[in-house]
Amino acid sequence: MRSSAVRALAVVAGLAAAACGAPRAKLVPPPPVSPSTAIVGATLWDGTGRAPVTNAITVVRGDRILCAGAAGECPVPHGAKVIEAQGQYLIPGLIDSHVHLLFLTNGSAGEELGLDLRDMLAQGITTVRDMGNSPAALLPRVAGLDAAPRVYAMQLVAGRRFFFPAFRQVKTERGVEIRQAPALTMQWLGWTPIQFNREDDPQTVVDAARQAGAMGLKLYAQLDSVSVRRLTLAAHQAGMPVWGHAWVQPASVGEQTSAGMDGVVHAAGLVGELFTADERDTLVNDGDLQSVTARTATASSAHDPRILATLDSMAAHGTMFEPTLDATRHSLATFDARLRHVPSLQEGYVRAAAGFGIEVTREAVSRGVRISAGTDHVAYGPVGERASLLGELQLYVDSVGLSPTAALLAATRDAARAIGGEPGRRIGTIEVGHYADLVLLSQNPLADIGNLDAVDWVMRGGRIWRPGQLRSGIAMR
Ligand SMILES: [Zn+2]
Repeated sequence: MRSSAVRALAVVAGLAAAACGAPRAKLVPPPPVSPSTAIVGATLWDGTGRAPVTNAITVVRGDRILCAGAAGECPVPHGAKVIEAQGQYLIPGLIDSHVHLLFLTNGSAGEELGLDLRDMLAQGITTVRDMGNSPAALLPRVAGLDAAPRVYAMQLVAGRRFFFPAFRQVKTERGVEIRQAPALTMQWLGWTPIQFNREDDPQTVVDAARQAGAMGLKLYAQLDSVSVRRLTLAAHQAGMPVWGHAWVQPASVGEQTSAGMDGVVHAAGLVGELFTADERDTLVNDGDLQSVTARTATASSAHDPRILATLDSMAAHGTMFEPTLDATRHSLATFDARLRHVPSLQEGYVRAAAGFGIEVTREAVSRGVRISAGTDHVAYGPVGERASLLGELQLYVDSVGLSPTAALLAATRDAARAIGGEPGRRIGTIEVGHYADLVLLSQNPLADIGNLDAVDWVMRGGRIWRPGQLRSGIAMR
């Protein structure tokens, strides 16, 4: 009331001054210069690849980084608020480049969604990329949340057989099964895949994705190599990254790579390289993909020359890779916890995928394929059963053999590259002009990646949150 009364008076005064021909009065004071914050004394690991800087100074103003470096490189501005951080470690805000946030039918669209995002922020995650959803339904919900990572969304695209027929008979090793079209299941979750057939105009997909608020495309299933190529070209012309399942059925990862896609997800999908083109078509159309994959994906088949050739091609093209190992580990743990049950096709698939995925990821790393630490985290269900970024990074170190530094790069600099586009240039590293997305840790993550759980505070866009503050009241089930 009071401020609107003041504004109304100011308008009247301004009109009066203009009517009198007097010099235009400056009625609105300039906004105060936002004071800087200097984080002083921490060991700075900036994610650019440079060695850690001890006793560093990092200055933030507004939502951006003003400077970061050794004491001589980065002076503390006069009047800056100083945060003493001796003995602590400052790293870029972490990025999970593969999450699924929106599940209308499981309740993670309202309060649950907000709690999940708060919990991720408390883990030091300041950016996530949603890899399957309805961008138009998700993004407005997220925009209203106060404490959450930055959320970017991709648009799902799939071929006709993903949508039709609504029900079909599939011959499996266990007899004939009636299966619902995957698109129907997905739409029931609240996700909105777009259908694309090879003769369609890919520009309409790009336009619809942009309209929905998506920053790129995620190719999901039932797309042949011609479709993949046409979609990738159109999206790239519009400045949109293109990611997708490895393989995207029937197109193989080799075909996705030569089509110029930016990255593929799920290590288990590299098994597609072991099928001929005819087999890939048959498996997709009539076969039993899960059981054939379960038989074919073994720890030794991960070293097959056809897979290695595709990984070499990915390295040469700069095609990125999200293995999503922690999600598989969680599924495996769930099956292990069930003492007496008849193993499902899904269980056979998961058991095969776990060993195969680790081995494929080891080969990918040794051949120079760039890894982005997406987790396939879902925002519903018991918290302990959700894939986590720390779990994913711990597997990179313990099972794949990455150094903690290399694992951290996969969740910072390289995950920013995976996200791409304009946001990708503002996140992932502590550099002048980047968003002030930072994590202060009380233990050294370069000595032990598990120390990422020692979050003192997390800053998103210049605003500091403490884990206890974020997690108070969270429904831990
Ligand atoms: Zn996923």
